Amino acid sequence: MRFLFCAAMLVATASTQGQEINRMLDSVKNSPKLSEYYTPVPPLVTPGKTASEAPSDAVVLFNGKDLSEWTGVRKPEVAWTIEGDAMVVKPGSGNIKTRKGFGDCQIHIEFRTPAKVESQGQGRGNSGIFIMGKYELQVLDNYNNTTYVNGQAGSIYKQLPPMVNACRPPGEWQTYDIIFTAPRFYDDGRVQSQARITVIHNGVLVQNNTTIWGSTEYIGSPVYKKHSEKEPIELQDHGNLTAFRNIWVRELK
Ligand code: MG
Repeated sequence: MRFLFCAAMLVATASTQGQEINRMLDSVKNSPKLSEYYTPVPPLVTPGKTASEAPSDAVVLFNGKDLSEWTGVRKPEVAWTIEGDAMVVKPGSGNIKTRKGFGDCQIHIEFRTPAKVESQGQGRGNSGIFIMGKYELQVLDNYNNTTYVNGQAGSIYKQLPPMVNACRPPGEWQTYDIIFTAPRFYDDGRVQSQARITVIHNGVLVQNNTTIWGSTEYIGSPVYKKHSEKEPIELQDHGNLTAFRNIWVRELK
């Protein structure tokens, strides 16, 4: 009789412990903490007072004062002029490029095509932002101005047109906010992954994580040739008095 009583007690205890374990497992399974983690903590960045102002971790490439972050592509000196808080293309002086190289990055740049409209098509306010010196995001006055669509403002030149035309009228300041992912190459030069770009033009999405097919060529097909992980950003002298201001970059690695 005493034996039977002890056995019943053991069964009851085991059963109670099992229920307790199940209760604990249920509470863990249903805990919101199971899908939360706390490290690594994202670094603090102080944003600018507006979305156009450089945040604390940006490299400021032009703040309206001097061209010390820039050099000529064909010659060391930069002949472009500073007018007010803007740098203005000096036609015929050539492209300029940053002294520093950039790979994956976020770029903010403001541009203004000439108020006085003197030409048409590709001749109106043409310039360009050659990311890594090779991949051109077109700058052009396409306000009531038609041209080949894969060469209009917001296009990846001769490759991909913008999703929409978000141009402001000539003479007004406009913005490009760009997220760029650099291409990756194998050691033997083959492409591991193509470059990608997202562009917001005057607050409007015009390129959405677009794959770039290679260098943007005036004549011929795009091509990838292995290059460094970081390359200078280049601005184009296309013979028009296009202006730029407030240029900054955040490196994304
Ligand atoms: Mg151009």
